[in-house]
Amino acid sequence: MAITTIPHRRDVIKDIKNRGGLVAAVLPIHYSRALLRAFDIFPIELWGPPKVDVSLGGAHLQSYVCSIVHNALSFLKMGELNVASLILIPHTCDSLQGLTSVLMDMIKPEQTIFPLYLPRGQREEDVVFLVDELQALYAHFSDFTGKYPTNEELLTAIKREELSDLLLLKLHKNRQQMGLSNIDFYRLVRSREYLSAEHFAALAENALQVTGETAGGIPVILSGILPEPMKMLDVISKMKGQVVADDLACCGRRLYQPGTSREPFRRMAERIIYAPPDPTRGNSIAERAEYLIEMARNSGAKGIIFYEVKFCEPELFDLPNLRNCLKEQGLASINIEVDINNLLPHQIATRIGAFLEMLDS
Ligand code: SF4
Repeated sequence: MAITTIPHRRDVIKDIKNRGGLVAAVLPIHYSRALLRAFDIFPIELWGPPKVDVSLGGAHLQSYVCSIVHNALSFLKMGELNVASLILIPHTCDSLQGLTSVLMDMIKPEQTIFPLYLPRGQREEDVVFLVDELQALYAHFSDFTGKYPTNEELLTAIKREELSDLLLLKLHKNRQQMGLSNIDFYRLVRSREYLSAEHFAALAENALQVTGETAGGIPVILSGILPEPMKMLDVISKMKGQVVADDLACCGRRLYQPGTSREPFRRMAERIIYAPPDPTRGNSIAERAEYLIEMARNSGAKGIIFYEVKFCEPELFDLPNLRNCLKEQGLASINIEVDINNLLPHQIATRIGAFLEMLDS
């Protein structure tokens, strides 16, 4: 598949605006795309982005806040979010919670800010909590748009997203037979961050019809928040590594399963709550270790690259114990911390190379 067939984010936004649609800028990680789409609001996710003038956001944030939050605020202050009518901020971590407060209490941008609180568990009371949160968001979106989607309309929106997510899952499962390089595979799956479900489904179906030479290389799992700068994927390829599965917040941790409930809010909540383990949703280290060991077994991965954003508390807090657990079970790992604005220093490429060489020996 020619990777040029993936539309650029700017063109997607232009197209939505030309058709009179509303754009929501959505921060990481979990939310219900279906709820937004039921109101004809199109989510465009904001994972940073990298390479912005961070001094603009830096004026309002402590230096130990991660680069995702610094960049998102800088991007907003540069006027790059003027295309968005609203900003949705899931309560993923204290840094994003802090950003919500800075925006609502101090900066007060022209876009309306909608926070979304997420429970930290998988108990029935967590489902009930998230159902309440999604219903509250429904009420806010109704006030904002003047629309009141019916349960049937909500279910239609949910099923559209479920179909797209099943294709995303299939792309992840078939990745080794598709003949895509590490970077081209992640360009494809990360287009889910800004394409509509229908558009992504068409793209994924096309990509799945193409088979290429089975990707070779030293098989590894990539874990962390996101593979930025994306050049790191080329570094892995150059060092003869092949990412065969991932535990990335922007990708593998959002392989949501289809729901079963006929009650739309419960179905949306369950899809998020029963997603793969994620420290920001309160999964324990033992659950994460078990999941990663199983992932390595199924994918044939020989080790894990933890590719972390500097100052990311939810990730870094777990890491020493998680890596010890994996080591005890014979799975080697390396931890690399980056600021998404920085070019990859030579030292990181050398460390990735040495780790892959060690796995191959
Ligand atoms: S990188 Fe970590 S600390 Fe920063 S927004 Fe994401 S989860 Fe929060």
